[in-house]
Amino acid sequence: MTPEEFRKAGHQLIDWIADYRAGVAALPVMARTAPGEVRAQLPPAPPMAPEPFAAILSDLDKIVVPGLSHWQHPNFFGYFPSNGLLASVLGDFTSTGLGVLGLSWQSSPALTEIEEVVTDWMRQMMGLSDAWSGVIQDTASTCTLVALLCAREKATNYSLSRGGMQAEPQPLIVYVSAHSHSSVEKAALLAGFGRANVRLIEHDAQYGMRAAELEDTIRRDIAAGLRPCAVVATTGTTTSTALDPVEEAALVAGRHGIWLHVDAAMAGSAMILPECRWMWQGIESADSLVLNPHKWLGVAFDCSLYYVRDPEHLIRVMSTNPSYLRSSADAQVKNLRDWGLPLGRRFRALKLWFMIREQGVTALQNRLRRDLANAQWFAGQVRATAFWRVLAPVPLQTVCIRHEPEDLAGEALDSHTLAWAERVNRSGGAYLTPAILDGRWMVRVSIGALPTEREHVAALWRLIRSAAE
Ligand SMILES: *Cc1c(COP(=O)(O)O)cnc(C)c1O
Repeated sequence: MTPEEFRKAGHQLIDWIADYRAGVAALPVMARTAPGEVRAQLPPAPPMAPEPFAAILSDLDKIVVPGLSHWQHPNFFGYFPSNGLLASVLGDFTSTGLGVLGLSWQSSPALTEIEEVVTDWMRQMMGLSDAWSGVIQDTASTCTLVALLCAREKATNYSLSRGGMQAEPQPLIVYVSAHSHSSVEKAALLAGFGRANVRLIEHDAQYGMRAAELEDTIRRDIAAGLRPCAVVATTGTTTSTALDPVEEAALVAGRHGIWLHVDAAMAGSAMILPECRWMWQGIESADSLVLNPHKWLGVAFDCSLYYVRDPEHLIRVMSTNPSYLRSSADAQVKNLRDWGLPLGRRFRALKLWFMIREQGVTALQNRLRRDLANAQWFAGQVRATAFWRVLAPVPLQTVCIRHEPEDLAGEALDSHTLAWAERVNRSGGAYLTPAILDGRWMVRVSIGALPTEREHVAALWRLIRSAAE
């Protein structure tokens, strides 16, 4: 494909994406694809001869789109939103089109410096002090792994420069809330802590971590000759957007000199609203935090922000510095390869930069406020209806609900819940993801796709009632 051919195909593809976004509301939200159905439509072996671009484009309509659940659909209420504002889509294209890598500052100076600027813009947007330095990673899973590696190396005074964790005299312990995301446990296991050394701290009635139990568990571990290493608190859990008490967790962590990482993957976006910042009260006492602008905020996946208060420590843990990557500028610049796991770095900052500039902070704030108001409205409807319950506080945009007819309990209630959620999803009219809370199935209604307005939430409520009652 020459640049001229690219210009032609690219215009067609942009038109195709614009048509997809403009028409997505007419498609069934959840894919009705059977397992293997997409694969069966593709040739098992690659073409030997070139195909026209038009043939590839037409398979997007014929094979790809029918095989998708549509996250940019106004009736998408599953998981958490993964919004891709179109300005950020263009930023992502630009990154790919430029095809540059940030191996070092020298390898693409603008890549590094725009990343520095936009992570600092985001810091200001969230009301964080200038003691924080940010870097862009792919996902929250990676950021939390990096955080636990940093915690491990802090607690062991850089054991990696000696015999590593294996040579430590005492096992290191990580404390996480019972409702923390699966990526937190995964990070702890991959960072070498071992399942036996990950403590799940019980939650209170609001599903937030009990700080008193955190303190007790740490004391017990110290008395048993173990070495507390890190606490991971969650601001906005995945099941119910519950809030761990960051300030109290920070007091406990501070008292014992251990690392505090805050997983605000979802809720971090809400911190651009001053009225939401109470949710992570105490954040300035944390050592690291992660948020995903690729969720609610609207940056096309993937874009996760990792902030630390001590970049020197991060660099000391992550740096390798082989001779072929050194340059004369190194003393004056950031080499972001030393801020995370991969060497190669995409120009992800562009999609954040495009989005913030094209939207302006006020429009981003207004959209999030729209979604918060829709969630409160929806929760009000549910609470006001007989045999329906809202099961957890609604600080953000996710409402956990259950239909509880008088004669149903236990497993029969679970079957009823899963059956009506499945009916909603199969109808194509909306997409919901059920989850387990307190050992029973419930349905999460996660509001906040870009095109979701009040009318869509009202239609959802009618659809849910007709599927369940
Ligand atoms: C979504 C989510 C994650 C995982 O995010 P990835 O970027 O997909 O790794 C982690 N923690 C919380 C609280 C989340 O909501």
